[in-house]
Amino acid sequence: MARDPRYDILFEPVKIGPVTARNRFYQVPHCNGMGRKHPTAMAVMRGVKAEGGWAVVCTEQCDIHVTSDTEREIRLWDDRDIPYLARVADQVHKHGGLAGLELTHMGYHAGNYIGREVAMAPSGRPAYGNMPFHARAMDKTDIADYRRWHRAAALRGKEAGFDIMYVYAGHSLSLPMHFLSQRHNTRTDEYGGSMENRVRLLREVIEDTKNAVGDTCGIAVRLAVNELLGPGGITPDKEGRAVIEMLGELPDLWDVNVADWENDSETSRFTEEGYQEEHTSFVKSLTSKPVVGVGRYTSPDKMVSLIKNGVLDMIGAARPSIADPFLPKKIEEGRIEDIRECIGCNICIGTANQNTYMRCTQNPTQSEEWRRDWHPEVIPPKNTDDRILIVGSGPAGLEAARALGQRGYDVMLAEARHELGGRAAWESGLPGLSAWGRVKDWRIGQLHKLPNVEIFMDSEMTAETVRETGASLVALATGATWRRDGSGRYHDHAMQSALKFAQKIFTPEDIVAGADVEGPVVVFDDDHYYMGGVIAEALARAGRTVSIVTPSASVSSWTAFTLEIGRIQARMRELGIALHLDHTLTDIDMGEIEITDIYSGRTEWINCSSVVMVTGQNPNDALYHELMADKAANEAAGIRRISRIGDCYGPGPIAAAVFGGHRYARELGDHVGDGVPFKREIVELVAEI
Ligand code: ADP
Ligand code: SF4
Repeated sequence: MARDPRYDILFEPVKIGPVTARNRFYQVPHCNGMGRKHPTAMAVMRGVKAEGGWAVVCTEQCDIHVTSDTEREIRLWDDRDIPYLARVADQVHKHGGLAGLELTHMGYHAGNYIGREVAMAPSGRPAYGNMPFHARAMDKTDIADYRRWHRAAALRGKEAGFDIMYVYAGHSLSLPMHFLSQRHNTRTDEYGGSMENRVRLLREVIEDTKNAVGDTCGIAVRLAVNELLGPGGITPDKEGRAVIEMLGELPDLWDVNVADWENDSETSRFTEEGYQEEHTSFVKSLTSKPVVGVGRYTSPDKMVSLIKNGVLDMIGAARPSIADPFLPKKIEEGRIEDIRECIGCNICIGTANQNTYMRCTQNPTQSEEWRRDWHPEVIPPKNTDDRILIVGSGPAGLEAARALGQRGYDVMLAEARHELGGRAAWESGLPGLSAWGRVKDWRIGQLHKLPNVEIFMDSEMTAETVRETGASLVALATGATWRRDGSGRYHDHAMQSALKFAQKIFTPEDIVAGADVEGPVVVFDDDHYYMGGVIAEALARAGRTVSIVTPSASVSSWTAFTLEIGRIQARMRELGIALHLDHTLTDIDMGEIEITDIYSGRTEWINCSSVVMVTGQNPNDALYHELMADKAANEAAGIRRISRIGDCYGPGPIAAAVFGGHRYARELGDHVGDGVPFKREIVELVAEI
């Protein structure tokens, strides 16, 4: 298909100092959990994005010196770090992209757990978060050292083959930004006080970098123009504007965003596409250099309007490039409906924050490009004559059917309900989760293009009807059901009182189905991801008096990893939801419940007419066990393998269900066996003991 001429503007080249980007699609720096520990997997992932059409593909933050050490990311401490980073640049170049390197010194944000160096800051202060250290105030020697380290890292980055070199003043976590900030910088020398003094270090480091590598590399500055802290923090009208006014023409490109990371990478539960525009749009009017900005952009029309209206020169993306590494190619080829839009859930960040291979809800091939040889767009054609039945059309069933269809298999997809999508359908009706519907919408759209996939709605399958289909392979994607009996993490077994007062106990599915819940309602959240908080929000918005009881110190505590935890706590408070944190539900009676402090054991009774249990889930695997109970009947029906996928196999986040469905399509439910099912990079022993 030809490209729509409306989108031509997105494919204009952009000059970035001595280098030229082939179009306006710019993958901004983003973490991925693989970093230097899994460098080949990381490099190939970056290369795939260049293959998908991103003109610029950047690394995650790259620590320039041992005084700035993080375990997860990449580093350029000395020459020995050059080869694995050269591999990143090579992979990006192989597919015609420019490779960008985000040089970073984290200042007081650095834990320095590895090198045990004392962290540094413009002025002495406690280290970031709750780390039990202090950062020391930098003297002039430290400032000179820092500048020299940054220059040395830039030279090494150039040697590694990078085309764009970053000076990083973003996310409230880098030294030039700490110097800029009145919160952190209380110096009285020429690096503190006036705006000009606070900008000095940033200016010097840009100049140093330009002098060192500016002959062949474009120099980019990542600048957070708003910390969303009000007048006490960095704001667009103070530091943001001043920096661009003073240094606007100095670097070759401005990559602007908001800080800190929680604000930069907000989820769709709290923000719409383009949420950073109001903060960053002023930048372009103050510089002639190209400006990049982010905001979970997935709509090509929106991208065009940003360019035409002079808001941005290049469309920055981290998450949209993870959800669909081929987004630019699809626009270029006129395949807009094939774009797999990011749903803004932050599972990517949540899993990268586990310091390992990042996952994506929409893109099951994320981080598997090298270790499993999974390409996001290409899948091997079928190599058996199987006819395959998928039972259940949730995220797992839809993805399995889609990818099997792409392989050329004959697929039957049977769904009991009148609607496709399973949990992706009902959960996207909950407050703030509407964008999650993209999980089903994209897959249903793709399925409609596959004549070899037949879809049967209103078809509740039984063991008998499964055997009548003529399928040789069967995958049960029948999902899971929230438990009603209170068992989960805290209670290993069913709560007897929950069984006794079953008429006042509800599950998330009941609430979505419109159950007549009497108030006051207590949500018992022993799940700790989003569901407890979202159900409480839905009930509060429906006018109920709601409390949450949770053994955690915060509501939805796992969302600390997805960067949502603060906003969720705020929302609970805004909605007037009473919080009983560090408490568990221990007894249920008529009209009240007993809750217990998990540390002291102290109990109290609170008013409660209905309880919503958000504790654990049971796989819907009755059909599987019924089928497996008569193997002879399966064999007689021509079925050679029956598998469970998605939540029916192991309940979890939607990302896990999509992955399970995709894996089934690649492996047809083959047993994992004794070996490791993916390639690994094994540590090489280089020193004598
Ligand atoms: P997952 O997240 O693993 O994809 P979901 O719970 O989202 O699981 O989806 C499961 C789907 O399976 C639901 O749409 C449900 O209606 C469907 N389903 C469950 N049992 C049957 C059955 N026996 N026959 C057909 N469809 C079924
Ligand atoms: Fe987007 Fe979610 Fe994928 Fe992250 S995990 S890229 S937020 S769809």
